[in-house]
Amino acid sequence: MKIFNTLTRQKEEFKPIEEGKLSMYVCGPTVYNLIHIGNARPMIVFDTFRRYMEYKGYDVNYVSNFTDVDDKIIKKANEEGVDPSEISTRYINECKKDMEGLGVRPATTHPMATKEIDGMIDMISTLIDKGYAYAVSDGTVYYRTRKFDGYGKLSHKNIDDLEAGHRDIGVVGDEKEDYLDFVLWKPKKEGEPYWDSPWCQGRPGWHIECSVMSKRYLGDTIDIHAGGEDLIFPHHENEIAQSEAANGVPFAHYWMHNGFLNIDNKKMSKSLGNFFTVRDISEKYELQVLRFFMLSAHYRSPLNFSDELMESAKSGLDRIRECADNLRFCIEQRKDTQESESENGLFAETDVFVKKFEDAMEDDCNTADAISAIFEYVRYINQHIDGASGAFLQRLYDRLSKLCDVLGIIIEKKEESLDSDIEALIEERQAARKNKDFAKADEIRDKLLEMGIELKDTREGVKWNRI
Ligand code: AMP
Ligand code: ZN
Repeated sequence: MKIFNTLTRQKEEFKPIEEGKLSMYVCGPTVYNLIHIGNARPMIVFDTFRRYMEYKGYDVNYVSNFTDVDDKIIKKANEEGVDPSEISTRYINECKKDMEGLGVRPATTHPMATKEIDGMIDMISTLIDKGYAYAVSDGTVYYRTRKFDGYGKLSHKNIDDLEAGHRDIGVVGDEKEDYLDFVLWKPKKEGEPYWDSPWCQGRPGWHIECSVMSKRYLGDTIDIHAGGEDLIFPHHENEIAQSEAANGVPFAHYWMHNGFLNIDNKKMSKSLGNFFTVRDISEKYELQVLRFFMLSAHYRSPLNFSDELMESAKSGLDRIRECADNLRFCIEQRKDTQESESENGLFAETDVFVKKFEDAMEDDCNTADAISAIFEYVRYINQHIDGASGAFLQRLYDRLSKLCDVLGIIIEKKEESLDSDIEALIEERQAARKNKDFAKADEIRDKLLEMGIELKDTREGVKWNRI
């Protein structure tokens, strides 16, 4: 499988550290509000990557954190007059609900920064011992950026250019040695959560959190580290500097970054009034549609969100689901029919769609092309469904379900039963049609429509749908 590695700016063949295993860390959200649809993009694309690796047989250890101590959380807590932990707990729970709706499976571990403070103090102490960090008199601890040779290797920035960019901002204080030095530990302010440390009562900087959680749950060197492209600099660059200086080994072999989601070609922002939470979208669309929409573009491309594109995602998803509905219906009708020799041959023909799907996913997780392969397969199924045996259709269905499952798209129908009065009405209408009382049949159909049940008469019999 080929992965575009931000570190080398090339597609590279993926070679795991340990055969058959994948260790992966994805930076998660800061939990001070409901997640927005931009936050959903890395969740969906990297969940899909994980699903594909599991489909290939990898044993995946997938870690994604919640940043539960941060200025924004504290600000929100002060506004509401509650403890910051109440805010973070509330929004972690809400985030998990959104993830479920989006079909994002829970990570193997979801560490929380506030539960990992000891590890952070340990790593900061190691960095100080090795000369990569220093504490100043108020207890702030800084990372000595220039001491780390590889600084800039992920973002492909030159350290002297970075320094020049900082010149006009102001003077370095007496104690902070360099503009490029970043905070590992900071003293508490009035009303903020804090922990004891050798330097002062305070809290960690954001970057150290991920270095420590990745080390604790996945080890010193991991296969893949991922997140949105805005995190390349400084967050991921600083994570590399911290982890590699402290552990003395490479941090991550591959770095994957998703492109940004824009709204009507503009950056999403509260001030522009084009800011949507996943919850907002769930009022208009089933969240599976949002997932399908996200996967219809390559994960590294910028993605534009608009009503038209969501509508087209919805109709694409409907096309796949209608095919699945049809299959289920026909399988039920033709339960006892065996597959013929020629159907066995036809099934072998569908290997080509699986191959196309896999080739697309092998090429840096190209979900857009993988979806095209599914559409081609759906077209093939629609052409072969008439008169086919139940056994053959079952095989086609299982294959469709397996491919959709890699994308986190659910085609199985939740077991739904109709109320007995609705069932009675459907039967009454069938009887009316049999007696050629079409006026009555139409009347019952309209009545059912009002009750939210749509009927479709097909050659195989009557089908119903909730609307
Ligand atoms: P944050 O809570 O801001 O740290 O973001 C959590 C994750 O969402 C990070 O991986 C970000 O890179 C990602 N992210 C934030 N905004 C967007 C966006 N508009 N499009 C794509 N990814 C985003
Ligand atoms: Zn991170």
